Amino acid sequence: MKFFDLGLDDAGLRDDLGRAFNRVLDSGWMILGPELEAFEQEFAQTCGAAHAIGVGNGYDALVLSLRAAGIKAGDEVVVPAHTFAATWLAVVAVGGKPVPVEVDEATYTITADGVAAALTDRTAAVIPVSLYGHPVDMDPLRELAERRGLFLLEDAAQSHGAAYKGRTTGSLAHATAFSFYPTKNLGALGDGGAITTDNPALAERLRKLRNYGSAKKYAHEMAGVNSRLDEMQAAFLRVFLGRLGDANARRRAIAAHYGEALRDLPGLRLPAEANWGRHVYHLYVVRSADRDGLQARLREAGVDSLIHYPIPCHLQPAFAELGFRAGDFPLAERLAGEVLSLPMWPGMGAEAVQAVAGSVARESVAP
Ligand SMILES: *Cc1c(COP(=O)(O)O)cnc(C)c1O
Repeated sequence: MKFFDLGLDDAGLRDDLGRAFNRVLDSGWMILGPELEAFEQEFAQTCGAAHAIGVGNGYDALVLSLRAAGIKAGDEVVVPAHTFAATWLAVVAVGGKPVPVEVDEATYTITADGVAAALTDRTAAVIPVSLYGHPVDMDPLRELAERRGLFLLEDAAQSHGAAYKGRTTGSLAHATAFSFYPTKNLGALGDGGAITTDNPALAERLRKLRNYGSAKKYAHEMAGVNSRLDEMQAAFLRVFLGRLGDANARRRAIAAHYGEALRDLPGLRLPAEANWGRHVYHLYVVRSADRDGLQARLREAGVDSLIHYPIPCHLQPAFAELGFRAGDFPLAERLAGEVLSLPMWPGMGAEAVQAVAGSVARESVAP
């Protein structure tokens, strides 16, 4: 069983993408045009945010958000110890210092209590990550951020369409960064990203930063970059956005099926959904103390699985300058050794889910 499938053999989807492709070809307009404007409006509306700003990828969405908020060299930015490296790399890119905190084991996200303990008088921002598709417990974090004057940026690269107390991801923090990498819950047919925010001044700075610091041609108000979501990707994303609700519902149904089939297996911890949240299962991540053995036996049985992520950020050579060592973040280190992502994509059929669950049930017991 493969791990993931983009679902591009769906005839209806191909028709819709073909129409989007032809619309852009017919227009002859490739950068900063009507498709991007329409997508930004539709995406902002889906998120319940006032503004959406399309950019080149999810990493740029994080970096440009930090820059737009004035995060600068020497500023400390609180990040999860357990996340994809891009969250930390974005902080380093603006000269900031990532300050890791352990995640909550039930949701794999950081909490206000964890963040509060890591604050210093140099802390300028906090980046909670709605990892694997589980939302962040945002109300206490937002209250803390506002009380301490911190910029709260959600990394929602894995949680398009997730919800917290009935509100959609993208409307919860001061700004939210999304990736449209093809395998994400909302993916393009190439790279893409966006930021949502309710803050009009922040939105305006982001629109300039992504386009050479310029709102008017050849007038450069700030040292911006080139990070634009192009017309072709915006047109494709409008097609996928229209299917996001169904795709997330399918992911939730698959997760429910896995949960039913795998509960009560000794030594296997399943993902949970907090009662205040709606999980969109970007990944279906189980935990096992015998993870490497389980993964090897599953491979033997023809089931692909992946590890998100095998090396914690604080032990990556990229962050050696921060001076962390093995033992500094024990939970993050344990998770790196125990997490295993099972096959999950919206078009995965019930038989395939049943087959994977059967293999996991058989192979989760060491021989
Ligand atoms: C995918 C991802 C990113 C980066 O997105 P790109 O579009 O690949 O740059 C950032 N953070 C998290 C948590 C991600 O999963």
